[in-house]
Amino acid sequence: MDVYAHIRTLAEREELGHAFLITGPDPAEREKLGLFCAQALLCEGEGSRPCGRCLACRKAEKGIHPDLLRRERLPDSQVFKVDQVREMSAEAYILPNEGKRKVFLLPEADTMNIQAQNALLKLLEEPPAYAAFLLLGANPGAFLPTIKSRCVSLRAGGSASEGGDPEAAKLAEAWIGRNGPALAALTFRAEKLDKLKFDQLLEGLYAAAGLRAKAGGPQRDRALELTELTEKLRSMRKYNVSPGLCMGLLLSTVEN
Ligand SMILES: [Zn+2]
Repeated sequence: MDVYAHIRTLAEREELGHAFLITGPDPAEREKLGLFCAQALLCEGEGSRPCGRCLACRKAEKGIHPDLLRRERLPDSQVFKVDQVREMSAEAYILPNEGKRKVFLLPEADTMNIQAQNALLKLLEEPPAYAAFLLLGANPGAFLPTIKSRCVSLRAGGSASEGGDPEAAKLAEAWIGRNGPALAALTFRAEKLDKLKFDQLLEGLYAAAGLRAKAGGPQRDRALELTELTEKLRSMRKYNVSPGLCMGLLLSTVEN
Protein backbone atom coordinates (compact mmCIF):
# COMPACT_ATOMS: atom_id res chain seq x y z
CA MET A 1 0.00 0.00 0.00
CA ASP A 2 1.07 3.54 -0.75
CA VAL A 3 2.53 5.14 2.38
CA TYR A 4 0.12 8.09 2.19
CA ALA A 5 -2.88 5.76 1.95
CA HIS A 6 -1.44 3.84 4.90
CA ILE A 7 -1.48 7.00 7.06
CA ARG A 8 -5.07 7.78 6.03
CA THR A 9 -6.09 4.27 7.06
CA LEU A 10 -4.38 4.63 10.45
CA ALA A 11 -6.09 8.02 10.94
CA GLU A 12 -9.45 6.53 10.09
CA ARG A 13 -8.99 3.77 12.67
CA GLU A 14 -7.73 6.28 15.27
CA GLU A 15 -4.49 4.31 15.32
CA LEU A 16 -1.98 7.01 14.41
CA GLY A 17 -0.03 6.56 17.62
CA HIS A 18 2.60 8.95 18.89
CA ALA A 19 5.88 8.21 17.15
CA PHE A 20 6.88 7.95 13.50
CA LEU A 21 10.23 7.18 11.96
CA ILE A 22 10.31 8.66 8.46
CA THR A 23 13.36 7.64 6.44
CA GLY A 24 14.44 7.87 2.82
CA PRO A 25 17.24 9.29 0.69
CA ASP A 26 15.52 12.53 -0.35
CA PRO A 27 15.10 15.30 2.29
CA ALA A 28 12.23 16.88 0.33
CA GLU A 29 10.32 13.56 0.28
CA ARG A 30 10.89 13.11 4.02
CA GLU A 31 9.59 16.61 4.71
CA LYS A 32 6.55 16.04 2.51
CA LEU A 33 5.64 12.84 4.31
CA GLY A 34 6.39 14.42 7.70
CA LEU A 35 4.02 17.28 6.98
CA PHE A 36 1.34 14.83 5.82
CA CYS A 37 1.62 12.90 9.11
CA ALA A 38 1.47 16.14 11.10
CA GLN A 39 -1.65 17.18 9.24
CA ALA A 40 -3.25 13.77 9.81
CA LEU A 41 -2.60 14.21 13.54
CA LEU A 42 -3.83 17.82 13.72
CA CYS A 43 -6.67 17.79 11.13
CA GLU A 44 -10.06 18.90 12.38
CA GLY A 45 -11.91 18.16 9.15
CA GLU A 46 -14.69 15.66 8.52
CA GLY A 47 -14.04 12.41 6.66
CA SER A 48 -10.64 11.26 5.46
CA ARG A 49 -7.73 12.84 7.29
CA PRO A 50 -5.80 14.94 6.50
CA CYS A 51 -8.50 16.89 4.64
CA GLY A 52 -6.02 19.56 3.51
CA ARG A 53 -8.74 22.21 3.77
CA CYS A 54 -9.48 22.84 7.47
CA LEU A 55 -7.75 25.61 9.37
CA ALA A 56 -5.45 23.16 11.17
CA CYS A 57 -4.29 21.56 7.88
CA ARG A 58 -3.68 24.95 6.27
CA LYS A 59 -1.81 26.34 9.27
CA ALA A 60 0.38 23.23 9.36
CA GLU A 61 1.17 23.61 5.66
CA LYS A 62 2.15 27.25 6.14
CA GLY A 63 4.29 26.33 9.13
CA ILE A 64 2.25 28.50 11.52
CA HIS A 65 0.30 25.89 13.53
CA PRO A 66 1.16 26.57 17.19
CA ASP A 67 0.99 22.85 17.99
CA LEU A 68 3.36 21.79 15.22
CA LEU A 69 6.86 22.40 16.52
CA ARG A 70 10.00 21.99 14.43
CA ARG A 71 13.10 21.16 16.36
CA GLU A 72 16.39 21.26 14.47
CA ARG A 73 19.99 20.90 15.53
CA LEU A 74 21.67 24.17 16.44
CA PRO A 75 23.61 25.87 13.62
CA ASP A 76 26.90 25.61 15.51
CA SER A 77 26.57 21.88 16.10
CA GLN A 78 26.97 18.70 14.07
CA VAL A 79 24.56 16.83 16.28
CA PHE A 80 21.10 17.22 17.77
CA LYS A 81 22.08 17.56 21.40
CA VAL A 82 20.81 15.76 24.48
CA ASP A 83 19.98 19.14 26.06
CA GLN A 84 17.65 19.87 23.16
CA VAL A 85 15.89 16.57 23.74
CA ARG A 86 15.45 17.46 27.42
CA GLU A 87 14.05 20.87 26.49
CA MET A 88 11.63 19.23 24.10
CA SER A 89 10.63 16.78 26.78
CA ALA A 90 9.73 19.64 29.15
CA GLU A 91 7.78 21.36 26.38
CA ALA A 92 5.88 18.19 25.60
CA TYR A 93 4.25 18.34 29.01
CA ILE A 94 2.71 21.74 28.26
CA LEU A 95 -0.80 21.21 26.88
CA PRO A 96 -1.52 21.93 23.18
CA ASN A 97 -2.60 25.46 22.27
CA GLU A 98 -5.36 24.80 19.77
CA GLY A 99 -5.54 21.20 18.76
CA LYS A 100 -5.98 17.88 20.46
CA ARG A 101 -2.40 16.95 19.68
CA LYS A 102 0.98 18.53 20.00
CA VAL A 103 3.36 17.43 17.27
CA PHE A 104 7.15 17.68 17.28
CA LEU A 105 8.82 17.44 13.88
CA LEU A 106 12.56 16.65 13.91
CA PRO A 107 13.97 16.94 10.36
CA GLU A 108 17.46 15.75 11.34
CA ALA A 109 16.69 13.26 14.06
CA ASP A 110 19.41 11.01 12.60
CA THR A 111 22.06 13.44 13.86
CA MET A 112 21.25 12.51 17.48
CA ASN A 113 24.08 10.72 19.22
CA ILE A 114 23.45 7.74 21.51
CA GLN A 115 23.05 9.96 24.58
CA ALA A 116 20.39 12.10 22.89
CA GLN A 117 18.62 9.02 21.54
CA ASN A 118 18.49 7.51 25.01
CA ALA A 119 16.92 10.70 26.38
CA LEU A 120 14.42 10.60 23.53
CA LEU A 121 13.68 6.98 24.29
CA LYS A 122 12.52 7.92 27.80
CA LEU A 123 10.11 10.40 26.29
CA LEU A 124 8.82 7.88 23.75
CA GLU A 125 8.28 5.31 26.49
CA GLU A 126 5.98 7.54 28.54
CA PRO A 127 4.81 10.47 26.46
CA PRO A 128 1.87 12.71 27.38
CA ALA A 129 -1.20 11.24 25.63
CA TYR A 130 -1.57 14.18 23.21
CA ALA A 131 2.09 14.40 22.16
CA ALA A 132 3.43 12.99 18.90
CA PHE A 133 6.95 12.84 17.48
CA LEU A 134 7.99 12.71 13.84
CA LEU A 135 11.60 11.59 13.51
CA LEU A 136 13.08 12.20 10.07
CA GLY A 137 16.40 10.95 8.76
CA ALA A 138 18.12 9.50 5.73
CA ASN A 139 18.62 6.00 6.99
CA PRO A 140 16.87 3.79 9.58
CA GLY A 141 20.34 2.42 10.50
CA ALA A 142 21.12 5.67 12.32
CA PHE A 143 18.54 4.95 15.02
CA LEU A 144 18.77 2.68 18.04
CA PRO A 145 16.66 -0.48 17.73
CA THR A 146 14.87 0.55 20.94
CA ILE A 147 13.78 3.81 19.27
CA LYS A 148 12.71 2.01 16.10
CA SER A 149 10.61 -0.47 18.04
CA ARG A 150 8.51 2.38 19.46
CA CYS A 151 7.88 4.04 16.12
CA VAL A 152 5.70 3.43 13.10
CA SER A 153 8.35 3.17 10.38
CA LEU A 154 7.54 4.90 7.11
CA ARG A 155 9.66 4.99 3.98
CA ALA A 156 9.59 8.33 2.13
CA GLY A 157 9.96 8.10 -1.65
CA GLY A 158 13.01 6.73 -3.42
CA SER A 159 13.83 3.10 -4.02
CA ALA A 160 16.93 2.67 -1.91
CA SER A 161 16.88 -0.79 -0.38
CA GLU A 162 16.20 -1.24 3.32
CA GLY A 163 19.34 -3.33 3.72
CA GLY A 164 21.60 -0.35 3.17
CA ASP A 165 23.84 0.61 0.27
CA PRO A 166 26.37 -2.19 -0.49
CA GLU A 167 28.86 0.28 -2.00
CA ALA A 168 28.72 2.38 1.18
CA ALA A 169 29.20 -0.74 3.29
CA LYS A 170 32.35 -1.64 1.30
CA LEU A 171 33.66 1.89 1.73
CA ALA A 172 33.09 1.69 5.49
CA GLU A 173 34.87 -1.68 5.72
CA ALA A 174 37.87 -0.43 3.73
CA TRP A 175 38.24 2.69 5.87
CA ILE A 176 37.75 0.93 9.19
CA GLY A 177 40.17 -1.84 8.18
CA ARG A 178 42.73 0.71 6.88
CA ASN A 179 42.74 -1.07 3.53
CA GLY A 180 44.38 1.65 1.42
CA PRO A 181 44.24 -0.01 -2.02
CA ALA A 182 40.56 -1.00 -1.67
CA LEU A 183 39.70 2.47 -0.40
CA ALA A 184 41.53 4.10 -3.33
CA ALA A 185 39.50 2.06 -5.84
CA LEU A 186 36.19 2.74 -4.03
CA THR A 187 36.76 6.48 -3.62
CA PHE A 188 37.80 6.70 -7.28
CA ARG A 189 34.43 5.20 -8.24
CA ALA A 190 32.53 7.40 -5.77
CA GLU A 191 34.02 10.60 -7.21
CA LYS A 192 32.43 9.78 -10.56
CA LEU A 193 28.88 9.69 -9.15
CA ASP A 194 26.52 12.57 -9.78
CA LYS A 195 25.86 14.86 -6.83
CA LEU A 196 22.60 13.29 -5.68
CA LYS A 197 24.01 9.75 -5.84
CA PHE A 198 27.15 10.88 -4.08
CA ASP A 199 25.16 12.45 -1.25
CA GLN A 200 23.14 9.24 -0.95
CA LEU A 201 26.40 7.31 -0.74
CA LEU A 202 27.51 9.56 2.13
CA GLU A 203 24.21 8.92 3.92
CA GLY A 204 24.78 5.21 3.41
CA LEU A 205 28.35 5.49 4.70
CA TYR A 206 27.14 7.31 7.80
CA ALA A 207 24.56 4.61 8.45
CA ALA A 208 27.05 1.78 7.81
CA ALA A 209 29.57 3.32 10.21
CA GLY A 210 26.82 3.80 12.82
CA LEU A 211 25.83 0.13 12.54
CA ARG A 212 29.44 -0.99 12.94
CA ALA A 213 29.83 1.21 16.01
CA LYS A 214 26.66 -0.19 17.60
CA ALA A 215 27.85 -3.74 16.89
CA GLY A 216 30.76 -3.03 19.25
CA GLY A 217 33.90 -5.14 19.11
CA PRO A 218 37.55 -4.10 18.73
CA GLN A 219 36.85 -1.71 15.86
CA ARG A 220 34.12 0.23 17.61
CA ASP A 221 36.25 3.35 18.16
CA ARG A 222 37.40 3.28 14.59
CA ALA A 223 33.76 3.06 13.42
CA LEU A 224 32.82 6.00 15.66
CA GLU A 225 35.69 7.96 14.13
CA LEU A 226 34.23 7.22 10.71
CA THR A 227 30.78 8.51 11.71
CA GLU A 228 32.41 11.77 12.82
CA LEU A 229 34.41 12.02 9.64
CA THR A 230 31.32 11.32 7.52
CA GLU A 231 29.41 14.02 9.39
CA LYS A 232 32.19 16.40 8.45
CA LEU A 233 31.94 15.35 4.80
CA ARG A 234 28.16 15.81 4.87
CA SER A 235 28.52 19.37 6.14
CA MET A 236 31.22 20.05 3.52
CA ARG A 237 28.73 18.96 0.87
CA LYS A 238 26.27 21.56 2.18
CA TYR A 239 28.87 24.13 1.11
CA ASN A 240 29.13 22.39 -2.27
CA VAL A 241 32.60 20.97 -1.72
CA SER A 242 33.13 18.58 -4.64
CA PRO A 243 32.87 14.77 -4.30
CA GLY A 244 36.52 14.59 -5.43
CA LEU A 245 37.75 16.70 -2.53
CA CYS A 246 35.52 14.86 -0.04
CA MET A 247 36.85 11.49 -1.17
CA GLY A 248 40.40 12.84 -1.18
CA LEU A 249 40.00 13.73 2.48
CA LEU A 250 38.59 10.29 3.29
CA LEU A 251 41.50 8.61 1.54
CA SER A 252 44.17 10.84 3.11
CA THR A 253 43.03 9.88 6.62
CA VAL A 254 43.95 6.25 5.90
CA GLU A 255 47.12 6.67 3.85
CA ASN A 256 49.02 8.71 6.42
ZN1 LIG B 1 -7.81 19.05 7.88
